[in-house]
Amino acid sequence: MSKKHVNGKLIIIVAPSGTGKSTMIKRLKIDFPSLVESVSYTTRPIRPGEVDGKSYFFIVREEFLKMREQNEFLEWAEVHGNFYGTSKKFVEECLADGMHLLFDLDVQGTDSLKDYFGDNANVIFISPPSVDELEKRLRNRGTENTQVINLRLMNAHKELLRKNDFDFLIYNDDIEKAYKRLTEITQKILAS
Ligand code: ADP
Ligand code: 5GP
Repeated sequence: MSKKHVNGKLIIIVAPSGTGKSTMIKRLKIDFPSLVESVSYTTRPIRPGEVDGKSYFFIVREEFLKMREQNEFLEWAEVHGNFYGTSKKFVEECLADGMHLLFDLDVQGTDSLKDYFGDNANVIFISPPSVDELEKRLRNRGTENTQVINLRLMNAHKELLRKNDFDFLIYNDDIEKAYKRLTEITQKILAS
């Protein structure tokens, strides 16, 4: 795939687990129907409420490794002990059709796509107000056990060191204010 094929916009949202990224992305897709979300592949167990093929394509480790071997990922990373990857074919087809693409990635995947697409990739980092608040949100969400929550919190400290490295930074303290800022940034990117 060559960078010159990028006609639509690329928006990448990155945030430590539990910040509120999925909550905001869900609303963003309704308010901006021209945005097409890249549905990633993952080896993580499915959570209650998630839909295979919509939230992620949930696959077993062997299948992921086979896809990786066959060069089917535009980028892939091991995050919180599971594999996650972006489908090269899906992204290629969307970009060829001039669609606007929305990605939900960790910092490793964000760095890979930024290297690949350069200024065509618009990265929005969403920060929690504090790690204590992040812990409360993860515990209240109730989708992970204590061990997994602790691993995600440990990784959050590292991810937060990168918060000033991207194009836009939003603090999700108050969800309505944060979401309003996200819509303003999205409008700005789509209009550019
Ligand atoms: P992520 O996708 O970043 O892991 P989620 O969107 O699942 O995070 O949000 C984690 C939890 O925090 C959810 O239960 C969500 O309802 C809650 N949440 C999101 N934003 C806020 C906020 N500003 N204040 C309080 N709780 C929030
Ligand atoms: P979760 O398990 O909470 O859904 O996601 C964990 C982390 O993996 C989040 O930071 C999310 O953004 C990231 N992630 C989801 N899909 C991908 C992907 O395809 N590639 C990369 N690098 N990270 C992903």
